[in-house]
Amino acid sequence: MSANQGIASEAAPAAGRRPEDVAGQQLESSVAVAERRQSAPCVISTRGLVKRYPPDTLAVDGLDLEVCGGEFFGLLGPNGAGKTTTIGMLTTRIIPTSGEAAVAGFDVRKHSVDVKRMIGLVTQDNTLDRRLTAWENLYYHGRYFGLSRPVARDEAERALRLVRLEDRARFFVDQLSGGMQQRLLIGRSLVHRPAVLFLDEPTAGIDPQGRLALWEILQGLHREGQTILLTTHYMEEAEELCERVAVMDHGRILAMGSPDELRRSVGAETVLNLQFEPVTHEVMAALEALPGVRGLESCSGGLRVYADGDHGLLPRVVQTILADGVTLRDVSVRTPTLETVFIKLTGRELRE
Ligand code: ADP
Repeated sequence: MSANQGIASEAAPAAGRRPEDVAGQQLESSVAVAERRQSAPCVISTRGLVKRYPPDTLAVDGLDLEVCGGEFFGLLGPNGAGKTTTIGMLTTRIIPTSGEAAVAGFDVRKHSVDVKRMIGLVTQDNTLDRRLTAWENLYYHGRYFGLSRPVARDEAERALRLVRLEDRARFFVDQLSGGMQQRLLIGRSLVHRPAVLFLDEPTAGIDPQGRLALWEILQGLHREGQTILLTTHYMEEAEELCERVAVMDHGRILAMGSPDELRRSVGAETVLNLQFEPVTHEVMAALEALPGVRGLESCSGGLRVYADGDHGLLPRVVQTILADGVTLRDVSVRTPTLETVFIKLTGRELRE
């Protein structure tokens, strides 16, 4: 298959565009998202995927994953969880130890060249050619993928528009900010119209403003029907962008679902973090007996209280603790986040 033929067949994801999203007006309900997943073909599929680095690091430990056309999927986990290795295997840069993986219908081991044609990849390395302008970086990427000169020209311009760098077309790479260079890397990965875009920690090291700009661009690509798999250790990023998230640690998926589903799985509407000492059995029993309290969990320097709601709960909790002659140092009240999910599953924080 030539790259040009690939482009024709890769138009499929765009055909799955949601008209209401193209209008940019409505958010899909989770039911609609689930229906779309069921009707969309599977773009990424793995079964029991394993990567072992010698001598004994099990970086990915039996991964089962399915990502459908048009989905925005996130792998969320702390450093060392196995996210980069997973992307490496799906993009043919890392050879799996065992198990199966297919991307756009092609086996990553048997048909690695086809997989490469069908994917866009942005790693944590800046691989832009500094001797070229923004436009030239995109144009030569298109030529490298076998596009004719006029098609490569059109696609370079389209990609510049997608990442909002039209006005920087003639700038050399070093004349662009870090955030713009990252956008250019994403633009370059889109020139050959990949069936799936892989982004490994796309906003690492980018300032907050640059991160927001990048989020908007990625949301725009998603609205256009682009299938995206990103890795991140920023839970806000996964919550903001992803329709589905797999929470990963030690090479395994601990939980998978929409951010809403995962938050609901915590089984509480409110989480109180209490820093106090000493944490005695008496205090714990008294807290557990309070109406609305669903459970307690030890954390460093105190306790975490899972509760149904926060109506009047905080004063009662504080009274209970102080009544027992305890020294209270700090209290925070939150609704569950993906961080809470991770803590509940592992007892650790994402960015420890
Ligand atoms: P993440 O992207 O989630 O930070 P990685 O996939 O980079 O995680 O790493 C997963 C585990 O595999 C870590 O323990 C890491 O040290 C190890 N690892 C990654 N690459 C190699 C390598 N080339 N050789 C040996 N161990 C590696």
